[in-house]
Amino acid sequence: MKLAEAFSNSLRAATFRLDSDDLGFPMTVQPVLELARHAGIEGQVLGPDDGEYDQRRRVWNGLFDRRPAVIVRAASSTDVQRAVTLAADAEVPLAIRGGGHSFPGHSTCDDGVLLDLSRIAAVDVDIAEGTARVGGGALLGDVDAATMPFDVVVPAGVVSHTGAGGLTLGGGMGWNSRRYGLTIDNLLAVDLALADGSLLTVDEASEPELFWAIRGGGGNFGVVTSFQFRTRPLPFGMASTSFYSTEQAESVLSSYADRTAGTPRELSTGFMLSRDTLRMKAVWYGPEDQTDSALEPFAQLGGVAPNETVRSTFWELQRASDLALPWGRRYYAKGGFLPAIDPPAIEWLVQSVNRAPNLDCDVYVIQLGGAVADVEEDATAYTGRSASFYWVVNGVWDHPDDDERCLSWGRHTAEGLSKLSLAGNYINEQSDVSQEATRKAYGDRTYERLVSVKRRFDPTNLFRLNQNIRP
Ligand SMILES: Cc1cc2nc3c(=O)[nH]c(=O)nc-3n(C[C@H](O)[C@H](O)[C@H](O)COP(=O)(O)OP(=O)(O)OC[C@H]3O[C@@H](n4cnc5c(N)ncnc54)[C@H](O)[C@@H]3O)c2cc1C
Repeated sequence: MKLAEAFSNSLRAATFRLDSDDLGFPMTVQPVLELARHAGIEGQVLGPDDGEYDQRRRVWNGLFDRRPAVIVRAASSTDVQRAVTLAADAEVPLAIRGGGHSFPGHSTCDDGVLLDLSRIAAVDVDIAEGTARVGGGALLGDVDAATMPFDVVVPAGVVSHTGAGGLTLGGGMGWNSRRYGLTIDNLLAVDLALADGSLLTVDEASEPELFWAIRGGGGNFGVVTSFQFRTRPLPFGMASTSFYSTEQAESVLSSYADRTAGTPRELSTGFMLSRDTLRMKAVWYGPEDQTDSALEPFAQLGGVAPNETVRSTFWELQRASDLALPWGRRYYAKGGFLPAIDPPAIEWLVQSVNRAPNLDCDVYVIQLGGAVADVEEDATAYTGRSASFYWVVNGVWDHPDDDERCLSWGRHTAEGLSKLSLAGNYINEQSDVSQEATRKAYGDRTYERLVSVKRRFDPTNLFRLNQNIRP
């Protein structure tokens, strides 16, 4: 099993848990680069001897350094269809790359086809219709840059270099989720290149079950070449961030927990806790003249004066962590849903960050509820609608010698939080991948429903480099 071995060895080098024993890769690699060069692809076809190959095979998480047989930089949906057919015919792994930000390195592979969507990144806003058409390889920054001049947004996440594609297909949460729902709650339709090489427009009316599945089911069902979203008005947004030292965290977080009860959906809150700093955030999307009264209760908590409080606009907020989370560092993430920020959770958070291997590792918590919880749990494949909070442990480091220390800190911290968490999980921020974890994230009922859709649209599991639903 040459390919399967190579695949699992490179993962093992990164000390990751991935069920690589039965991914179903073939025994031999066909001369896939030659096939790609004759597939009529209009975009770029790069092989290991091409100058740009090393730059283009990189992904955001520096833990993953893989060598695809060919990189197809698709220029159109037809190119995407051709690349999909190429990988299916050659029976080699197919990695789909939108923004390249997959925590477990799913958007690259050894010896297969890396389908790079970064050239399909146009964003067209239709103000009259209240919609935006977003290319499958667009970044969040592309979407914000196109929508914000019109005072509208596509509700999504933060960090402008993250891909809109992967984020949307997993669910998509961010600072305006409480007001406008998840990214998938604002998705109207997609153009999807299927495993059989065809291109299908999928929406609620034409393919309700497939449309249900792609809203939370990740990249399991095909390659989205274009998303159509409903845009939402956002004439005003202002964030307040208060900085405390970690020694003050227990009293600040207890007071925070009390204040979040009954907050309006125009207000989003959250925090980031590391070994030396607690950053408390509140973001107001309501009328401008109510900004101070909305934000001030969160600017000073637990009777403790913060070291500093800064205000930022929505645009600044969306990019605030861009530089702290650059391409090429080594990253681990694991998340979950909490019903409350209660004393056991606070105690574990504080204990854990005090043991963090460096100052860049942290735990990030964002308040959910509001419009996220308006949608029925089974209306989309995403799970966790009833959770009040989402947490994610972030391990961040630079040197391979620190892999073990940082990974075990991340896993240990997440293990403690998982014990306090609700069932279900957000598949987009899970570095540890296994069949059991994927099933657990969706729950048995949703998982089985996803399997039925997978059997119909991808019976050979061509799209398997993801949180895989096995047909
Ligand atoms: C710095 C950073 C910030 C983040 N912030 C947020 C946040 O605020 N909110 C949030 O919800 N999540 C956030 N995430 C998690 C994010 O949603 C996932 O990492 C997501 O997979 C990133 O998408 P991508 O296109 O960049 O990833 P890629 O690595 O390019 O793709 C990941 C997977 O998504 C699938 N995929 C991507 N594009 C397509 C497509 N067009 N068609 C079909 N399949 C596709 C493929 O299966 C691929 O393996 C963040 C991640 C990072 C690293």
